[in-house]
Amino acid sequence: MDLIKIGKFIADCRKRKKLTQEQLAEKLSITDRAVSKWERGLSLPDADKMLDLCNILDINVNELLNGEKIDMKEYNKKTEELLLEMARGEELKNKKIMINMWVLLITALIFYIGIITLAVLTLEEGPILGAVICSSTIFFILVCFYGLKLEIDAGYYECKNCHYKFIPSYYIALFAPHVHTTRYMKCPECHKYSWAKKVMTKE
Ligand SMILES: [Zn+2]
Repeated sequence: MDLIKIGKFIADCRKRKKLTQEQLAEKLSITDRAVSKWERGLSLPDADKMLDLCNILDINVNELLNGEKIDMKEYNKKTEELLLEMARGEELKNKKIMINMWVLLITALIFYIGIITLAVLTLEEGPILGAVICSSTIFFILVCFYGLKLEIDAGYYECKNCHYKFIPSYYIALFAPHVHTTRYMKCPECHKYSWAKKVMTKE
């Protein structure tokens, strides 16, 4: 915190309000020496005087501690833009994850069917064929588990009942009946079961 800047700001605001140091001190029930110390950057107003001081000077505490006026319109607009940008970034990122998930699952499925078909056509019935089918099935199941993890991590599930958006735990999602990415789960907000739809952002 820049005490000198704050001090100058207090002095400017006081003059704009056409108050002397003595008058300001009187309004705050403190000595004019205290006001003079603030304005020279030697000390900060006590916390219990800060709100009263801000009210008298028509500023907010944020502005007092920054030592300058903050244009609230500009401030709100900037915050809004930043939030919007973050939401867009999140949506894009989650869409990419979902696309990766589908590409991964479809590729794995094609490989799985391919290997099984090839094995059945070329290998004779016996332990080797069994082992190939077993290991490729396990591999495919592992890819599906990983795909589910990607799906859970991307975005949220929206409760059909109260529209609350939540991220379920892996095991809840794993055992939930589902159609594509819509899962039948209990909502942590209203505690009702519904077909929760996959959404990409909280908005
Ligand atoms: Zn709900």
